[in-house]
Amino acid sequence: MHVIGGGLAGSEAAVSAARCGCHVFLHEMRPRKMTPAHHTDRFAELVCSNSLGGEAETNAKGLLQDEMRQVGSIVMAAADASRLPAGGALAVDREIFAAHVTRTLEEHPRITLVREEVAEPPGEGAVVLASGPLTSDALAECLTAKLGTSFLGFYDAAAPVVLGESLDTEVCYRAGRYGQSADYWNCPLGKQDYERFSDALAQARSHTPHDWEHLEYFQGCVPIEELARRGVDTPRFGPMKPVGLPDPRTGREPYAVVQLRADDREGRLWSLVGFQTGLKWGDQKTVVHTIPGLHSAEIVRYGVMHRNTYLNAPSLLSSALQVRKHPQLFVAGVLAGVEGYLESAATGWLAGLNAARFIRDQGPVLPPEHSMLGGLVRFLAGANPHNFQPMNANWGLVPAAEGKGPKRERRAAMHRRGRHSFGDWLRSFDVLPAAPGSEG
Ligand SMILES: Cc1cc2nc3c(=O)[nH]c(=O)nc-3n(C[C@H](O)[C@H](O)[C@H](O)COP(=O)(O)OP(=O)(O)OC[C@H]3O[C@@H](n4cnc5c(N)ncnc54)[C@H](O)[C@@H]3O)c2cc1C
Repeated sequence: MHVIGGGLAGSEAAVSAARCGCHVFLHEMRPRKMTPAHHTDRFAELVCSNSLGGEAETNAKGLLQDEMRQVGSIVMAAADASRLPAGGALAVDREIFAAHVTRTLEEHPRITLVREEVAEPPGEGAVVLASGPLTSDALAECLTAKLGTSFLGFYDAAAPVVLGESLDTEVCYRAGRYGQSADYWNCPLGKQDYERFSDALAQARSHTPHDWEHLEYFQGCVPIEELARRGVDTPRFGPMKPVGLPDPRTGREPYAVVQLRADDREGRLWSLVGFQTGLKWGDQKTVVHTIPGLHSAEIVRYGVMHRNTYLNAPSLLSSALQVRKHPQLFVAGVLAGVEGYLESAATGWLAGLNAARFIRDQGPVLPPEHSMLGGLVRFLAGANPHNFQPMNANWGLVPAAEGKGPKRERRAAMHRRGRHSFGDWLRSFDVLPAAPGSEG
């Protein structure tokens, strides 16, 4: 079997499949051909921050880390071998981290490292595509031809996503514009609310784009801060237009409206319509919290504007990370529509496992819905395809805990529930992970 791309997802996928007994060819184009963000020839190079997220049991990434430890993840083993003190976060020495992963791959008897760019996925055996957000142009062109032009995104222009349970439903109201079905939550702004919001937006700082990103705004993707720069009322005549959205409690249209659209079928995740933004995360939070109904909204995915290559997962992939129309193809990492180092590695593990099962004529496996990995891959396959943007681990991906206790306790309960269901699931099928460090 072949894995294309030796980043976070591809490295984990290669080991996952090799542990199942497959011989894996892991293709990595560096150092012959570099991406604009990588600097070394190492596998699993961390291109930006050196953190794999918060470790607390109240943190969604903490649950995913736990699940990855249970499968004997090489990324988690490398993180444990290279960890640095960083409060509650799993931070690593990036050199030691990547060296650890590289050594594990080099020493694995069933993995052959091939240092070449792949322009077209091999036609035989199973293939895991894990070429990441900076997939080479040749491969991107090939995927576009194979899967269809509309299925590959090159630009991540995402709006913040908030947790449904954190909306103030006493303030927001359900309605669709001009009496259409009431699919949206609407946050009403009076004149003073709008001025407060505009002031916060004017003071907010933007993320400075990397020069290689060549940021440009596509039609329909202009960030909210850029709209506001064009005129104080521009957002009010654009995405915050109140026309056709009377507040049922007053019968009148508010001065402005922020609409929220469901991002998942269960209605746990809601994105702010037309609010794609490149603001720094702290400032983004401040601005969102000025909006009536969102004063204590929990942002589970911040808005971003950057170059990114990813597939429209809900149109193309099953929750087993298999391309529905080309069952020998599996996809992992950012290309599959996740965001984050850990999420990339986790989907890599699952794609590698399912690709190996495909070769052995075994059906794919799907982690339980209460686990973070299970929630993530279900989201990928089931999200709204019309507005699909990559997703990170967050508590909105798994069913909420029952009961009404403090948030901290509910999250801890969700963590325990996810960890146990994942462990039970792992023990329920025949491919058990090898213990970390037993690669040779
Ligand atoms: C600039 C930038 C900064 C980011 N910062 C963070 C961050 O701070 N924290 C975070 O959690 N996430 C961050 N991300 C998002 C994401 O988590 C990382 O990009 C992560 O590395 C993705 O893992 P991956 O395996 O999907 O891709 P990668 O880790 O990028 O691995 C893909 C690999 O495929 C190789 N490749 C590409 N095309 C080909 C080809 N045709 N043939 C062979 N090999 C190929 C590449 O050289 C690369 O090694 C960032 C993304 C970008 C673009």
